[in-house]
Amino acid sequence: MTTSFNFADALLDWFDHHGRKNLPWQQNPTPYHVWLSEIMLQQTQVATVIDYYNRFIHRFPDVQPLAKAKQDDVLAYWSGLGYYARARNLHKTAQIVSEEYTGRFPKTLEELINLPGIGRSTAGAILTLGYHQKYPILDGNVKRVLTRFFAISGWPGNKKVEDNLWQKAESLLPDKRIANYIQAQMDLGATLCTRSKPDCPDCPLQSHCLAYNTASPTDYPEKKPKKTIPTRTCYWLVCQNGDELFLEQRPSAGIWGGLWSFPERQEKEELIAYCERTFHFSVDNIEQLPELTHVFSHFKLTIRPLLITSRPKGVTDKSVGNWYKIDDIMQLGLPAPVRSFLHTLQ
Ligand code: SF4
Repeated sequence: MTTSFNFADALLDWFDHHGRKNLPWQQNPTPYHVWLSEIMLQQTQVATVIDYYNRFIHRFPDVQPLAKAKQDDVLAYWSGLGYYARARNLHKTAQIVSEEYTGRFPKTLEELINLPGIGRSTAGAILTLGYHQKYPILDGNVKRVLTRFFAISGWPGNKKVEDNLWQKAESLLPDKRIANYIQAQMDLGATLCTRSKPDCPDCPLQSHCLAYNTASPTDYPEKKPKKTIPTRTCYWLVCQNGDELFLEQRPSAGIWGGLWSFPERQEKEELIAYCERTFHFSVDNIEQLPELTHVFSHFKLTIRPLLITSRPKGVTDKSVGNWYKIDDIMQLGLPAPVRSFLHTLQ
């Protein structure tokens, strides 16, 4: 592909004039420095990372002191960066590198990706920036540049799309100046091919960029598709007697386990039969109230409340349900939609 050669050359030329060269981890890019900066940058902006990185390096200048440190100490130096699993993995990896690799980061992709918290892209960064080996990386910046340059549709988190991106990233690698090239990719994505305002007129890839020439760059990369979740329906029987309402306690297992709610069934007839049989309600003059919707992580529940105001015929067994004054109900453990329904009822 002729584009690949041009792509790398254009990028390197741009990097020589506009690339970032003063970031603290670029000053002495040992594998340790590259690794630490990559982990810090995974969820955090460069501007925030710089101070944390400098403090961390001052306290843990290399793998060995980090490996020997107490986890609490490592977490204290991470405090404020968030995503603390990164710090715990950092500590574990330092201990493995210290014990199994005599304090030097391994030089193969296979060994690196076996270390806690190191994925293929971070391993690629260590191998290229730290050891000058020829490997691709695919962090968020590179994904954005490549999906735009090749107008690759689909969400990059999708396995097929991601595989395609890795192939493209690999095919574009130059034979020389690999560290500069990788840094250039990161820099272009971070400073020019930005998420919402790419500066295409100043971009060295503009003439071959498919998104720029045929579509709208900000259409790429595509967003994660929203999951469509199923909808379920249920009926509540809201039995009102003066200023009291009837509630039953839900079984301890299942949704809203142990909370107080209106008698509920999936089918209206089933619910009425249940309430007549169990609570001796005389169910007539049913008024259908407006529907409610409650969204769980895995489904959406449409609730159809049925209001009856007739008195119960017989004595209710208090172990299965009870009458409560509306104000007292608010003191009970209630599912969120019951609580909001009561507010509207009031
Ligand atoms: S031309 Fe625009 S969209 Fe294409 S790579 Fe450059 S900045 Fe990104």
